[in-house]
Amino acid sequence: MSARREFRLCQTCGRECEADFSFCPDCGCSLASSPSFFALLEGSFSRIEDGESKARIDELEQKLDDLERELDEFAGRVEAARVLRR
Ligand SMILES: [Zn+2]
Repeated sequence: MSARREFRLCQTCGRECEADFSFCPDCGCSLASSPSFFALLEGSFSRIEDGESKARIDELEQKLDDLERELDEFAGRVEAARVLRR
């Protein structure tokens, strides 16, 4: 497998340029201020890993568990009603 290639997005024309390019080959703009594409990607992943988001995900998972339990109870009640009607 070849080494992962890093790209920067040109902020002027949006072209993907090799990370070690200093200038966009298309429009000639300086790429120095453009964050590397993979750095951006990794940045968004590490935000998920940080404490606040983790706590929020835990909270959502807890709510999902509660909801699932309520759904089970509801399904059980529906099933019971169906049995009674027979
Ligand atoms: Zn460009």
